[in-house]
Amino acid sequence: MRQRALLLTTLLLMAGLTAGPAGQGAEGAKATAFAAIDRNAGEIAKVGDAIFSFAELGMQETETAALCVRLLKEMGYTVETGVSGIPTAILATYGSGHPVIAVHVEYDALPGGSQTPGVAEHEPIVAGAPGHAEGHNTNAALWMGAAYAVKQAIDQHHLAGTIKLFSAPAEEQGISRPYFVRDGYFKDVDAALHAHVGSDLSTSYGPRQYAVMSVEYEFFGKTAHAATSPWTGVSAVDAVKLMDIGWDALREHLPPTQRSHSVIVNGGVQPNVVPDYAKIWYFFRESTYEGADNLFKKAHNVAAGAALMTGATFKEHILSACWPTRDNRTMAEIVQANIDLVGLPAWTPEEQALARRIQKAAGVKEVGLDTTPTPLREAVQSTSSNDSGDITWTVPHGRITFPSNVPGVPFHHWAAAVAEATSIAHKGEVAGAKVMAGAIVDLLTHPDLVAKAKATFDQEVAGSTYRSLLPPDQKPPVDLNADEMAKYRDLMRPHYLHADIRFK
Ligand SMILES: [Zn+2]
Repeated sequence: MRQRALLLTTLLLMAGLTAGPAGQGAEGAKATAFAAIDRNAGEIAKVGDAIFSFAELGMQETETAALCVRLLKEMGYTVETGVSGIPTAILATYGSGHPVIAVHVEYDALPGGSQTPGVAEHEPIVAGAPGHAEGHNTNAALWMGAAYAVKQAIDQHHLAGTIKLFSAPAEEQGISRPYFVRDGYFKDVDAALHAHVGSDLSTSYGPRQYAVMSVEYEFFGKTAHAATSPWTGVSAVDAVKLMDIGWDALREHLPPTQRSHSVIVNGGVQPNVVPDYAKIWYFFRESTYEGADNLFKKAHNVAAGAALMTGATFKEHILSACWPTRDNRTMAEIVQANIDLVGLPAWTPEEQALARRIQKAAGVKEVGLDTTPTPLREAVQSTSSNDSGDITWTVPHGRITFPSNVPGVPFHHWAAAVAEATSIAHKGEVAGAKVMAGAIVDLLTHPDLVAKAKATFDQEVAGSTYRSLLPPDQKPPVDLNADEMAKYRDLMRPHYLHADIRFK
């Protein structure tokens, strides 16, 4: 019996379970990680505030990516850029062997979201410029804090396993992560975690968001003088109009669960020239990937009909295609255990007062900041989408919502940017980073948890075979938002925060 116990201890030591100084195990490693986060709370805040000031639209996150690359290299990560051909996509790796734990976060801003932090009225830093009107800057701050903390834990406690940190550009257009999965970046990953800003410290399991397909339809016609010889022309704009009308007529016969919306990106130049080019861009959303794919197939027929009616030709381009997001029960339990351990930040009366002023300005209930812990719950599937869906159907996946924003404030509204570079955001980033680091340490030190997550994941997705909805040769639209960003970048540059950030 004693021999067996000795053998077990040796095996556990080999597995890294009780490794580290004086055999401190998961608790010791977690204490190391949490201390690193507390010690670097000021640096984490500076990362979030700097990225808030950069406020870069999807696929144009060059300053943001450069800052993260510099920090990750200084921390000791091996950093690859240009993941899946996306210049602002980063993959930072540290450690060796299994388990391989991936962490992915988005860090893009929104058009027109520019806002002075801490001011509870609409006061753009640069009028019309992009801004962090959802707070993705805080995702990246958390990500850096957790990256540093986990590396300290691995080094000091000799933990086995590999950390893979992915940045996920252009979340607002649902772009990057389906490409990562299609291109095989998650093949050797055992489990993945995602952090996203919210107004509570929480997690959940089950289907959470909708699938989405983002598709552009280009129509090609023939120019003519619109007054003297219109019969010789073919209007591409007419084809766009007919596609729009056709889709709206079809809506009556689509399942009530669907969501579809469009913008006319190019509607001709001037009326006296029959336009030979026009473009319309759709998002097709459904609760299942089959549903979204079905909408896309119907839209193809509508586009073909519009082309037939006008004599135009058309091309369709899938910009992105995302599965619905879902979270694994075991991963949610691991995250929840760390939420219970970390707890909500202690808010000051000043922070509560600012939150109420923001809520008043946004016209929502003035309830202040969250002070009640959120228990583990089953998710309610929302009609919104996130491009992390494909990951969540590929590996056991857990998500952390952290309280860097204000309850009730609508995302994509200037009011949602007000708190994102204040002490409210900073405290939320620290709490979220601890939950993230704690969950990673649990996975690295307990191979049984990884095995359990895989087993429950297999049960949850049984009967559904993942396949990428992206065409195999589809390239990511790297020029997305380039024009919009170029309009504002020089005006925004004087407001960039280039604080000296050194994790220690
Ligand atoms: Zn978001």
